[in-house]
Amino acid sequence: MTARLIDGTALSKQMRAEIAERTQALTAIGLRPGLAVILVGDDPASQVYVRNKVKACSEAGFHSVLEKYDATLSESELLARIEALNEDPAIHGILVQMPLPRHIDPQKVIATISTQKDVDGYSVQSAGELLTGLPGLRPCTPYGCMKLIESIGYDLRGKHAVVIGRSNTVGKPMALLLLQAHATVTICHSATPDLAVHTRNADVIVAAVGRRNTVTRDMVKPGAVIIDVGMNRNDEGKLCGDVDFAGVSEVAGAITPVPGGVGPMTITMLLSNTLEAAELAAAPGGVAPGQ
Ligand code: NAP
Repeated sequence: MTARLIDGTALSKQMRAEIAERTQALTAIGLRPGLAVILVGDDPASQVYVRNKVKACSEAGFHSVLEKYDATLSESELLARIEALNEDPAIHGILVQMPLPRHIDPQKVIATISTQKDVDGYSVQSAGELLTGLPGLRPCTPYGCMKLIESIGYDLRGKHAVVIGRSNTVGKPMALLLLQAHATVTICHSATPDLAVHTRNADVIVAAVGRRNTVTRDMVKPGAVIIDVGMNRNDEGKLCGDVDFAGVSEVAGAITPVPGGVGPMTITMLLSNTLEAAELAAAPGGVAPGQ
């Protein structure tokens, strides 16, 4: 392996220690950051995700609330619960774990969360803020990818970044964040005829597809920075990304592993967003809950 390893576990640890310190300072003045996590139904993967989020909150010193509801919860009951949390001054971030049962419209749910408490950064308002370069809460996974790139001191200005994937939660916000950092950005997707034509010219590749071996050694320019968002299983059932790590790390300049790269950063950025929301609410002229 010649590529430098971009260690998301180590960066997460360092960032979470800083978050815990800032949390202590806020708590000392009576403004402990608070996150409410709502889980509807009993999807096993979602249960693990929310457990990890709540655990990370308590380790950082946050106030956290986990509300679990039966899959039969009605849409109007869920919306009413979110509205109550919007008004709760002890809660600075609201996260509704996806996917939701089919009878609940996720767009309506996201739209009901107050923009100031939208710590997932999924609302149309948050997306608009990102698109127009206004301050706001950024989607956790792409925001974490930016921190990983920053952590190696890489200057994106004038570089060619290729994002593979165009989902609203990863690919599109990722491209916008890279653009904001002055990269020249290409977005590829399932209708892109020849992915390699684009990736071979890339200084930075962010793979967010959900298909292993989407990026192989022959598709990478020597020295490129590779951020692997994908979460897949290999034939042995082991977690792997979208990038052929063994092959690509022979030519890349820097690369994130899976696991231990982007994954840990997603929860860290959730904590960071919640802390930021609490600090903003506490600032003079800060937005009071429900406004
Ligand atoms: P998604 O909504 O399924 O989007 C996948 C994207 O990949 C789509 O835009 C799709 O294009 C594109 N795509 C599919 N096949 C392709 C191909 N052969 N060539 C080029 N593009 C292709 O998934 P997502 O939510 O963005 O997540 C992507 C991956 O990241 C998944 O593995 C997910 O588990 C992982 N993830 C990890 C974290 C983390 O914390 N580590 C967080 C979020 C997601 P079309 O739009 O044309 O269909």
